Order: sequence, then structure tokens, then C-alpha cells
Amino acid sequence: MISLESTCDSTGQSLTYQMNHSVILRQILTKRSQQKRRTSPANFKSRVFILTPTSLNYYEHRNGKVRSLRGFVEVARIKCVEIVTTDVASRCRNKYAFQVLHENYFLYIFAPDRESRQQWVLALKEVSKNNHCMIPKYHTNFWVEGRWRCCGQTEKMAAGCTVYDPSMSGGKPLPPTPEDNRDWSVALYDYKTEDSKELALRSGEEYLLLDTSEPNWWKVQDKNGHIGYAPSSYLTKQSEDNLLTYEWYNRNINRHHAEKLLIARGKEGAFMVRDSRQAGMYTVSIFTKSLGEGSIHAVKHYHIRETNDCPPKFYLAEKFVFATIPQLIIYHQHNCGGLVTRLRHPVCSWKEATPVTAGLSYGKFEIDPTSLTFIQEIGSGQFGVVKLASWQGTRKVAVKMIREDMMSEEDFVEEAKILMRMSHPKLVQLLGVYTQHTPIFLVFEYMEYGSLSEFLRRNKGTLTRCTALGMSQDVCEGMEYLEASNFIHRDLAARNCLVGESLVVKVSDFGMTRFVLDDQYTSSSGSKFPVKWSAPEVFQYGRYSSKSDVWAFGVLVWEIFSEGKTPFEHLSNADAVKEVSSGFRLFKPKLATEKVYQLMNNCWLEKPDARPSFNHLMKEITDLVESEM
Ligand code: AMP
Repeated sequence: MISLESTCDSTGQSLTYQMNHSVILRQILTKRSQQKRRTSPANFKSRVFILTPTSLNYYEHRNGKVRSLRGFVEVARIKCVEIVTTDVASRCRNKYAFQVLHENYFLYIFAPDRESRQQWVLALKEVSKNNHCMIPKYHTNFWVEGRWRCCGQTEKMAAGCTVYDPSMSGGKPLPPTPEDNRDWSVALYDYKTEDSKELALRSGEEYLLLDTSEPNWWKVQDKNGHIGYAPSSYLTKQSEDNLLTYEWYNRNINRHHAEKLLIARGKEGAFMVRDSRQAGMYTVSIFTKSLGEGSIHAVKHYHIRETNDCPPKFYLAEKFVFATIPQLIIYHQHNCGGLVTRLRHPVCSWKEATPVTAGLSYGKFEIDPTSLTFIQEIGSGQFGVVKLASWQGTRKVAVKMIREDMMSEEDFVEEAKILMRMSHPKLVQLLGVYTQHTPIFLVFEYMEYGSLSEFLRRNKGTLTRCTALGMSQDVCEGMEYLEASNFIHRDLAARNCLVGESLVVKVSDFGMTRFVLDDQYTSSSGSKFPVKWSAPEVFQYGRYSSKSDVWAFGVLVWEIFSEGKTPFEHLSNADAVKEVSSGFRLFKPKLATEKVYQLMNNCWLEKPDARPSFNHLMKEITDLVESEM
């Protein structure tokens, strides 16, 4: 059980208000202290009250802006909600009192006018109407100086004197619940507009979703009625169980990465919630020094467990069970409740790195070359040189200049819009193109550490198994997205992956071989054809599929674990074909465990259908990542 006051004042710690519930009502009201102790005087505090389907939360505020959560009442524990009919003068500006009886506490709230009070009482009655704990009778007036002013009883917990009707408020029947089917979202990041069709976003603010039919750009409306498009990766839909808006929730972080981040923070009680290895489950990871100086086990991991109720409730320690995970976290931010320390400092891995948008702005496909300032050449590939440039002086981008006669430009231009729509955190994003004059160029997200193959060779001898698995996991995630989009890469290899900040690896050049004009590259007997990454059905019949990508992925994992070696280094293309056709496979790299090597070999099964899907591989790699720690 949570007592209300214990969540309010025990630490005074500031909690950022998170907007992730569907808000039913929100208003600044006055709350009277609950006077748990007989001698403490009643006092009045102005709070932002927010009612969601599961809880009535109240927050401290400054100038109307929400600052920190001071307490909440779980809707499921409400026993009675009714207006207070009284002749006792209110000692605050708001005069219209109503009461919320929960557990054995009377919460008195004062609204500024009759309508507002009616609205709150009706809404609270509506959300709690199915509670089994309702009381049959209630007190219509206050408890004043040791007696109930309505009936004169002198026992505070004495049964009420007036029949309580959950379907009536102040004698008026509850109206039918208005249906509002509109969806709301919350901005996870600030977004500055780049185009008049766009709408600027402010992190933490709510936006009405008007049109989400385009996956990358949603049409939204802000609270002032302004309408425009915003990148969907900057928004998240508002729903009861959406943890994404909480800064303590780090979705795609494995145990190893969590430990690194928490240790780097180094503060007692630094914590995060992350996805568990088991799909749909969550883990709380906490940094503590209380295990002793020099202890390597400075991070403790706790699974959030679920009860068998329907819907399930959540707990870390059996004694403290909550309707939602955020409520559980709030409780443990204030109370150890069986944990090694209370949750003091949320650690967030995602706030700083804003996601890449699908395109530089909404609907913009063609890039104005004058918006680019070229900085330096950073590489050279199949189509020509690649240059680092600055877009509008604010954003680094990589520009691929297409050498004449190297690309089937017409086909590419037709396809480019589709490529631009492919958007995932583990794919190198195509941001725009310039096709008005030759040389045409393609603008991509800039990846500061360049190609994966070169990165591996440069850092030979320093790669740990964890990092290698993490890199394989990144690529697998990007490929899982392509597979789900029915998109075949056709040339997956370490040279076609790029390394960015925090050593994230992203898949690049997907589908691009279709536009190459060089026969040496496109024909399986050509000298530049990537035979050593090709599945037998590809070099024999040119049969590409997601399963031939899986074969190449196995080779790519081999490249990672061999720290950038070339597969079948000492064999010609023709000999490599012979070896593979007669059943030989690449050897096990030193850094790879038997399980990792087994995963590679599963990718190299002769029959395409026998190979695992990327979706399956993703689960396997996630398991390996966790078990390697
Ligand atoms: P490519 O034409 O894709 O083979 O690229 C040639 C080289 O340019 C790569 O090996 C990288 O070193 C560099 N490069 C290509 N794209 C990018 C990018 N988006 N960010 C940073 N470097 C890149």
C-alpha cells in the first residue's frame, strides 16, 4: 500500500512531470492536508491536479508550470467521491470543496467554482464506478474539532450518515461518458521547423494527432490550434502503458550498456528501467556503492514482476504492488522498499541524441545545393567520392557525388522516394537528393567513424566480445526492419555499414546495387561481384531474398569477430565459390564463442528456407549479449 503523504514529502526530491497517461482532467486546485496526525494543523496548498484513468496525481507548480509530483491516489482505491456541503468558511481562495475517500484518508480538494467542482466529482465518480470498495454511506460535511459536523459522531472513522450513490453527484445523475476518440501524442524532443508546412515541437508538450498515415511525418495540432507536420520519431502516442516519455526508461539498452552508463554516472541510486531479455518484461538497474569499495558488482538488476491479476499489477518487492510501472518507480524513488537503495538519479541515454529525420524537412526531397557547404572529402566508393558537408550551417551530412555513367540515374530517381521513406535508427538515413543537373548527388546522415570494415581494422586488438556482439546486434536490428519492409539489401557486408557516435553501427547502401552500371560489379562472374558474401543461390542463379541477406549477415558477423579480416582471404572468387559449393565454411574467429559461431553457421545453411529470419536472429543475439556479461 502507498500512503499518500509518504509519496509527497518524505524527500522533497523533484520529479519531472511526465505526460504519458491519457489525461482526463487537469486544473490547478487547492488541496487541504490530510491531517494524519491529530495535532497537525490543516493547511492548504495549490497543486496541479491531473486525473488519468488510473490515478489522480497532484503536482507542485510554479506559474502554472508543472514541477514535481507531490502525491497521487490510485483510482482503484477510491471509496467515495462527493461534494462537501458545509457552512464552514474555507481558508483558501477556492471555495467549492469536494472529498475523495481512499483507503482511510479523506482528501479534501477545493475548486474555484461550482462547475469545476461538478466536473471533477463527475469525472472521478466515472473512473471509480467499478470499484468494489465503495462505502454505503458518507459524511456530507467536514470533520471539525473532534466531531463530524454533519452527524455529530465523534469517531473519525465512524460510518457516514448519508447514503452514498456513486451514480449521482450532488443529487445530479452522471451524464453519459463523452467519447473522444482522438489520439494525443507527447513530444520527446524539441523540433525546430525547417519548412512552413511543419510544426515546431517542445519536449514534454502534448499534440493532437490529426493524420498518422505517413509513417515518418505526422500531422499534428498544438494546444494553440497550430497545425503542421512533425517527424514521428520525435513524438510518441499517449497511452497508459507507454513508458517512452519517462527519462528513466531506456528501451534498447542491454545489461552491459546499462552497467556502463550507470557506472559512468557513479552516483548512489543512479537507475534506469530497460527492456528485459524476456520480451515484454522490464528490468530496473541500480548503481550502488553499498556493496563495498572496489566491488565490481556495483550495479544490481531487478526484474519487474507481474501479478496474476487481470490486468496485471507490478512489483519489485511483493509487499509493494502497483497498478502501473510509473507508479512503482515513483514509490521506489521515495522508498527503498526492499531494494539496495532507493531510486535517486534517473539515467537517460536517449534525450541528448535527437533522432535522424526521414528527409531534411517535411516533403522535401530535392535539396537546394546552395544550402550545402562542402568541408572535405571523406571517402570514395562504387559511385564516386563522398564529401562531408554542412547543411544550412547547422547539420553535418555526407554527400555522395555520383560520377557520370556509374549509376542508372533515372531508375534511381524513381526509387529514391522509397529509399527516403526507409527510416530506422540502425539504417543510414537518405536525407535528400539533387537530380536537377549532373553530377547528381545523394545526401546521407553523417557517420563520424566511417565504414565498419575500416573501423575494425583500425582498432584491431582492442575489440571486446561484448562490443562485437553489440555491433552485430545493431546490424541485425537494421536488417530486421528491412526484412519486415520486404526490402532486400543485396550487398550486406562490413564495408557497407557505417560507425557513428557511441559506436553505433548502421546499415548503409541498401538496395543500391540495382543502380550500378558496372558489369564487373553486377555480374556474378565479374571481378567486383561480392561472391564471398553471397549465398549459393545468389552466385548460381542470381536469386536474392531476405534469406540471401541472412547469409551475408553471417559473413558480416564473421568480419566483426575477425576484426576486419577479408573472408576467404587467400582464395580467388572462383575458388571461394567452389569451397562453399562443396560445403566448406569460414573458420571460427578467435573472439567468437561456440554459440556465436553456431549462429554464423545457421546463416550459412545451404537451403535458404532453413536459415533463420532476422527477427529470429535478433532474439538469439539479444540472448547472447545478456549471457556474455
Ligand atoms: P561508399 O560510396 O558508400 O562505398 O562510401 C565510400 C566511403 O565514404 C565509405 O567507406 C566511408 O568511409 C565514407 N562514407 C560513405 N558514406 C558515409 C556517411 N554517411 N558518413 C560518413 N562517411 C561515409
